[in-house]
Amino acid sequence: MKLILLGPPGAGKGTQAEIWKEKLGIPHISTGDMLRQVLQEDSLLSRKVKPFVEKGELVPDEIILEIIENRLSSADTKIGFILDGFPRTLKQAQGLEDLLKGMNKQIDLVLYFATSIEKIIERLRGRLVCSQCGMNYHLKNMPPKKEGVCDKCGGRLSQREDDREETVRKRIEVYLQQTAELIEFYRAKGILHTIDANKDAQEVYKELVLLFGKKGFNLKSNDFHKIGERTESHA
Ligand code: ADP
Ligand code: AMP
Repeated sequence: MKLILLGPPGAGKGTQAEIWKEKLGIPHISTGDMLRQVLQEDSLLSRKVKPFVEKGELVPDEIILEIIENRLSSADTKIGFILDGFPRTLKQAQGLEDLLKGMNKQIDLVLYFATSIEKIIERLRGRLVCSQCGMNYHLKNMPPKKEGVCDKCGGRLSQREDDREETVRKRIEVYLQQTAELIEFYRAKGILHTIDANKDAQEVYKELVLLFGKKGFNLKSNDFHKIGERTESHA
């Protein structure tokens, strides 16, 4: 199963991808996570991408396409993958098509996470990320059991640098100018499915259970995932 999660920053793509990667038995490939990993290194690539990520602008297409080409050549992507935060421009979408064509593969489904601007701002403002394992939380919607500490690994939780107010505004602008046109690009191909991502995470998850069931996706695990306390109703 080859999936793309499309939508604005803060729509909840990463949150769902982390759940579904286990159930579908395929890797979650987030270009944002990969770039943050690169930023930990002292390398030429790190120095090249840093100013773009810091300002909330898009990293040049050639760099992203090279990163994706390397990642999709790994054996763990053979039966499928969940792309999150990529593609973000028409050039990236076309580059991905060419790449997959060369591998005799194609995208099965693009999930568009439709989200209001108010929700995006509220979610990014409250997002907390574990500095050790990368697990996502939200101050109100999905708080950790112990303040500032990751439930999973005990790591320290902090706000992402680019989730600060000024950068968030820039990222939304960039999304509207450069990424939103991909909705029509994939709709025209007949592989776009829109989900209402304004709903809380458990509701979005349930919608995906129904959708994947209808599409006959092969689930590795049939257990119903309970996001439970980590939903917006507890805000
Ligand atoms: P994206 O990967 O699209 O940028 P995330 O999955 O990181 O978005 O979610 C952004 C923030 O919103 C996180 O703090 C996450 O805990 C929270 N969140 C994710 N999905 C939902 C949802 N459906 N309802 C409320 N909060 C959510
Ligand atoms: P994300 O974690 O998806 O919100 O991405 C964080 C930042 O990484 C973005 O604001 C961009 O600077 C950069 N980035 C992530 N994915 C891409 C991409 N596909 N194309 C260009 N830049 C990207």
